[in-house]
Amino acid sequence: MNTEVRVKENKLIDSYQRLIHKLRVQLTDACNFRCFYCMPLDMKFKPHSELLTSEEIYQICFILNQDFGIDELRITGGEPTIRPEFEEIVYKLSSLNLSKLGLTTNGFILDKKLDFLKTTECKNINISLDSLNEETFNYITRSKYFKNTLKSILKAKELGFNIKINTVMLKGINDNEVEEFINFSAKYDIEVRFLELMKIGEAYYNNDKLFISAKEYIDKIKKKHNLHPIKVEIDSTSFKYRLENGAKIGFIASESMPFCNSCSRLRLSATGKLRSCLMSNNGINLKNLQKEQYREVLYSVISMKPYTRIHHIEENMNQIGG
Ligand code: SAM
Ligand code: SF4
Repeated sequence: MNTEVRVKENKLIDSYQRLIHKLRVQLTDACNFRCFYCMPLDMKFKPHSELLTSEEIYQICFILNQDFGIDELRITGGEPTIRPEFEEIVYKLSSLNLSKLGLTTNGFILDKKLDFLKTTECKNINISLDSLNEETFNYITRSKYFKNTLKSILKAKELGFNIKINTVMLKGINDNEVEEFINFSAKYDIEVRFLELMKIGEAYYNNDKLFISAKEYIDKIKKKHNLHPIKVEIDSTSFKYRLENGAKIGFIASESMPFCNSCSRLRLSATGKLRSCLMSNNGINLKNLQKEQYREVLYSVISMKPYTRIHHIEENMNQIGG
């Protein structure tokens, strides 16, 4: 257990010397897709009345940013773009003194938000695309909207956003598409990150059937391509390579090569719970707290932050805020 937390020059450092400076902000647990590894078809979402208001989200982020050195925010969900106050929230968060403001989205209605996003500081967009094949994409997302997501990706690229594709690798479903994704990356100059399926909620129960390790597909890629490592930040979740055809690919091997010992993240749920780990639902609710109470709460939450990987969690990814 992580006992001692320090604030040094406005930076949060835990007893394992991890600098805690990133926050994932979940706007909602609701989604317009139903990716089968993320949530059940009949998922019930939190009523809007239970969510933090846009002003509460802003105030919490403001304090964490100003007094505790949280300098990177990533907006996520569920699907963040469907929150009615999405634009208001992004606009407010854009006024903070951040080194990076990002968004993770399924891309379904992103193309309609891009002109707005262009006017904000939110320039780093990760878009989930689990297949380049329309039928497979629609099967995984249990939607009919492959074309919308693809259109959003290409438009975001054209408009100059810094975008990355997230692709969760699923054995027997999309693991035959690695080469296509590499070609896609090279053709459009877009980084593609291959994610290992994590033992979270729905995916935990189907892990034996669906899991494929990064090593398995890296070995296949190496037979065809030379991989040139790209330097990444110490707290990066991914390791990356440039290929000779120009593709840029990354791997998030959360299961086979966990990175908990360099994790720099906290998470704020849509209802206000601050938690220190994706894999643990321990945390403290910040709703209605006074500014003076933040320090103590932050120390407590960070002291809950594990140093090694927790095996699994039964909550679904959309509920945690992926
Ligand atoms: N709805 C948005 C989206 O799909 O990008 C944001 C939230 S979603 C939960 C964030 C990311 O988590 C997506 O890239 C999704 O594929 C990924 N994800 C969901 N469940 C996962 C699991 N069990 N293992 C690994 N990644 C998962
Ligand atoms: Fe929705 Fe994202 Fe979960 Fe898919 S992965 S169901 S798009 S929250």
